[in-house]
Amino acid sequence: MSDLSGYFDFNATTPMLPAAKVVLAEMADKHWQNPSSLYREAGEVKHLLEHYREELADELAVDDPERIIFMSGATEANNAVVEYLASSHDGAIVVSAIEHPCVVAPVAKYFGESRVRELSVDPVSGVVLLDQLEGGLKSGEVKVVSVMAANNETGIIQPWEEISRLCRESGVTLHTDAAQWFGKLPCGTIADCGYVTGSGHKFGGGKGVGFLVLPEDELDGGRFHGLTGGPQEEGRRAGTENLPAIAAMVTALKERETTLKSDSMGRDLFEARVESELGCRIPGKESRRLWNTSMLVLPHSKNLKWLTRLSQRGFCVSTGSACSAGQGNPSRVMAAMGLDFEEMSRVLRVSCGWETTAEDWLALSDALAAVAVELE
Ligand code: PLP
Repeated sequence: MSDLSGYFDFNATTPMLPAAKVVLAEMADKHWQNPSSLYREAGEVKHLLEHYREELADELAVDDPERIIFMSGATEANNAVVEYLASSHDGAIVVSAIEHPCVVAPVAKYFGESRVRELSVDPVSGVVLLDQLEGGLKSGEVKVVSVMAANNETGIIQPWEEISRLCRESGVTLHTDAAQWFGKLPCGTIADCGYVTGSGHKFGGGKGVGFLVLPEDELDGGRFHGLTGGPQEEGRRAGTENLPAIAAMVTALKERETTLKSDSMGRDLFEARVESELGCRIPGKESRRLWNTSMLVLPHSKNLKWLTRLSQRGFCVSTGSACSAGQGNPSRVMAAMGLDFEEMSRVLRVSCGWETTAEDWLALSDALAAVAVELE
């Protein structure tokens, strides 16, 4: 068993990769100066910052590194994008019913109720309804679309290539929250899905750091800005750049890209067992999903009781998105997939890591079976 054999909450956060930690320490030790200062050592920091921007651009197949803006994470990046798009577009935004709260909240705040159109998902597959999207795009009132690449609670993958094509053909601006995609599946062409956001700690790159990729046309004459009050990031995101964190994040993404996993065998065995032996239900099971994620509707008892007992046995799982877990809020994602309030209280999210083995998954299913007996 690996060290992290009982950790099944990788969609909430991941431990830093060893190579990322080495780079973090090295940069913090040797290159701590402010990249905006004017002496030689600071120039070296600035140079390294641009080096890592270029490396990230290479990884993301982004032709111009200037399209990348470093930020403190996907929450900041999503907030900044939504605020900017609300102020630079007149019409409505179509936003999927399963977005992360860090998209939902700024959409409500900056677009306002009258300019928001919700895009439903099919309750069985959990995938956005493309017909509904096409209808919205044809209406002429929709100027912005926001659909995530992969859902943090269910792992269900959204058809971002198709969405990107439809938006491009209609001349509509797209925002893609890809925080759960990066590091788990190949970057491919995802960085070309409009305004694209990512987060270091979802793939072993460390917390408090993330990035935004701007669309190509934003560079000619676009006025994107996030935080204001400083000249950093070409005036597009104020605040002293955190080179150690940025270097660690880029190092981690590079490593993930060369050791990508696609095997969901352990997860699938686990699901087969908990379905047949415990009577769990797995919404969206037949859909294309991230290889690491499983959302279970437990057969009985509140999810928190299961979580606590699993924790006593050394297993870390989640009751849903870490951001709403523990707050007693009904999950929008589960509501969109047709779960009622009572069912939502029985949901458990299990998300493994890159090193998790089939034995680890089976040990978790054994623990669930033992807890099921205790709680019955
Ligand atoms: N978007 C999605 C889909 C997420 O899962 C998360 C984290 O849970 C975020 C955004 C927020 O990312 P960060 O923690 O980097 O702010």
